[in-house]
Amino acid sequence: ARKKLEGLRGLPAETADGVTVDLGANIGLLSDMMLARQYGADLIGLYRTEFPFLLRTSFPSEEEQVALYRRVIEKSEGRSVTIRTFDVGGDKFLSYLDYPKEDNPFLGWRSIRLSLDLEDVFRVQIRSILRASAFGNTRILFPMITSVDEIRRVTALVAEEKENLDRAGIAYDREIKLGIMVEVPAAVPILDRLLRYADYVNIGTNDLMQYLLAVDRNNKKVAVHFNALHPAVVATVDRIVTVCNQFGKNLCICGEAAAVKESIFLFIGMGARQISMVPSAIPEAKRFIRSVRAADAEKALADCLGMEDAAEIKAYLDGCLP
Ligand code: PEP
Ligand code: MG
Repeated sequence: ARKKLEGLRGLPAETADGVTVDLGANIGLLSDMMLARQYGADLIGLYRTEFPFLLRTSFPSEEEQVALYRRVIEKSEGRSVTIRTFDVGGDKFLSYLDYPKEDNPFLGWRSIRLSLDLEDVFRVQIRSILRASAFGNTRILFPMITSVDEIRRVTALVAEEKENLDRAGIAYDREIKLGIMVEVPAAVPILDRLLRYADYVNIGTNDLMQYLLAVDRNNKKVAVHFNALHPAVVATVDRIVTVCNQFGKNLCICGEAAAVKESIFLFIGMGARQISMVPSAIPEAKRFIRSVRAADAEKALADCLGMEDAAEIKAYLDGCLP
């Protein structure tokens, strides 16, 4: 079976009726890039930069960050690399940062909120990513965007740091694309307005499910309720994909659900054409996509959108998937 999956490496993730899906890898460390290439990733859909921050005893300097991001970009061998600004708080804490005592860290000082409060640190990272973008195909991504105000502030910081680099005569990709993670339910009904400020969208299904279903993504006691086939999850992701396609914005689905065949099938039915996952899941996802038809996925999605619960959707999909 492994041989068979290896034979797929040079082939596209194309459905039996000719729809191509780009398969991305989620990476956190430089060494993950080797795996991404080995397993045949078409792109790096998500580079989580908080890992280098977590492994240190102080914030990495601009020169350290530029060197690291540059190595990642160069090792991607031309693949698009989506670099997400550091997402800490929640369950990832920096030993060298003072956190308030919080009852609900996942609802607290986390991610873009923390970054915008630490503006100097945030600017250093933005500048580092911009500088690294001179060395390859780079996009910049902002996590946990919840309001237009946040994305306005972020775009203003990027514009200011571009000006600073211009003044210093330092190279960067002037056309670099700026994206938002849609992973807080509040972003969904205002997505048309958020898209005025963003070139593309990444869906973070892990957090989107956590916040939509009010289920801690790491709590085993309630893991049974953390279900990507919950009709509210299916409907919400469908809405995001539809709006992005309407507005002509590139969309990539990330998070653990992006590696699960039932979800992949529904995502294809929604019109998603880019999904990103842990590198080792790519060959199996590709094999699966090559065995289904997008037209069938569309029909299945339409049926599932009217169903009552995850169990009904799961049983239905079990009946029609190979
Ligand atoms: C997500 O929330 O689905 C996601 C991809 O980001 P992270 O798991 O890093 O929060
Ligand atoms: Mg997330």
